[in-house]
Amino acid sequence: MANVISVIPGDGIGPVIVKSAIKVLEATSEIYGFKLSFVEAPAGDAAKRDFGEPLPKSSFDKIRSSDACLKGPVGETAKDVIVFLRQKLDLYANIRPFKTLPGVSSKWKDVDLVIVRENTEDLYKCVEDVGEEHAVALMVLTKKACLRISNVAFQMAESRRKKVTLIHKINVLRSFELFRKAALEVARSYPSVIIEEMLVDNAAYQLVTNPQRFDVMLTTNMFGDILSDEAAGVVGSLGLAYSANVGDEFGLFEPVHGTAPDIDPLYANPIAQIMASKIMLEWLGRKKGNAAMIEAANGLENAVFYLLQDSKSLTPDLGGRATAEDVTKRLIDVLLKERCKL
Ligand code: ATP
Repeated sequence: MANVISVIPGDGIGPVIVKSAIKVLEATSEIYGFKLSFVEAPAGDAAKRDFGEPLPKSSFDKIRSSDACLKGPVGETAKDVIVFLRQKLDLYANIRPFKTLPGVSSKWKDVDLVIVRENTEDLYKCVEDVGEEHAVALMVLTKKACLRISNVAFQMAESRRKKVTLIHKINVLRSFELFRKAALEVARSYPSVIIEEMLVDNAAYQLVTNPQRFDVMLTTNMFGDILSDEAAGVVGSLGLAYSANVGDEFGLFEPVHGTAPDIDPLYANPIAQIMASKIMLEWLGRKKGNAAMIEAANGLENAVFYLLQDSKSLTPDLGGRATAEDVTKRLIDVLLKERCKL
C-alpha cells in the first residue's frame, strides 16, 4: 500500500522547490521499489488568498490523516501554519543537521553538528499581551517538554560524537533552571555522553569562530530558531539546510529557510527541500519497518553530495548558474546511474 504524503507547496520559492522534491521522490521510489502517493494540502499566504484562511480545515485534515507531511516554506502566515502545526500535532523535536560538504564553499571544514530545538513552547507559545503602552510575551517551559527534548538530544549524541551542548541564558533568566535540571537528569541515563553548558551569546560566537567543537546543540525554541540560520551560514547556504519536526506519532519535514522573496524562484536552490524529503524517507522507513525507504534515503543523500561537487549543478546561492529544474534533472540522473552500478 502506498504511503500517503501530504504536501504543502507554500509561498515564494516554495512551489518550485517542492515540485523538485516530489519529482526526486517519485524517481527514488521507482528506483528503490516502494510506493508513495501525494496529496496537496494548501497552506500559507496563497491559501489565505484563495480560501480565506492560512490553514483551511480540509488541509489540516489531509495532513493529520497522512503518513507524513512534506512542507515548503510559508510567508507572512508562518505562525498560523508551522507554529500551529508543531503545537497541535505535538511535533516537539525540531532536528536540524548542518554539515560542511565537498564542493560547497565555506570558511570551515569538518563541521558536523545537529541543533535539537524544543519545538512547542518558549516564547513561540505566543502567550502575549500587547497594548499601546506595553507588550509582554511569556516564556513558557514545562518539565515534560524539557525532559523529552533532552532525551532526543542525548539519544542522538549517543550515535554520534557523544557530546551535548546545553544552550540557555541562565545568568539572566532563572526559568532556564528547569531546562538545565531536566537535561542533567536525562544525562544520567547516558553515561557515555558528555554534557557541557553554554550561554546562548557565547554559543552564537563559538558557532562562527569554532563550529567544529559542537556535536549536538540542545536548546529552546527561539534560540534554536536563530542559531539554525547562523549554522546554515557557517556551512554554506540556507539553501542546503533542512529539518525534521517530529513527535511520537507524526513527522513534518521542511527546509530551514523561508520563502526567499528576494530571488527568482526558478533559480532557488531545491536541495534543502530535497534533503527534507530524504529525512522524511528515513523516518518513515524506520516507522514502517521499510528497509527500501532507508536505503533510498542513503542513496539520495549520496547523490546530493556527489552532485554538489559538480559546479555546473550549483544554484546562484552556491556560486553557480543552475536552475532548480537543472538540479532536479541532474540529481535524478545521478540516482539512476548510482543504482545501475549496484
Ligand atoms: P521569509 O520572510 O519567508 O522568512 P526571508 O527573506 O526573511 O523570508 P529566507 O527566505 O530564509 O528569509 O532567506 C534568507 C536569505 O537566504 C535570502 O537572501 C534568500 O534569498 C536566501 N535563501 C533562502 N533560501 C534559499 C534557497 N532555497 N535558495 C537560494 N537562496 C535562498
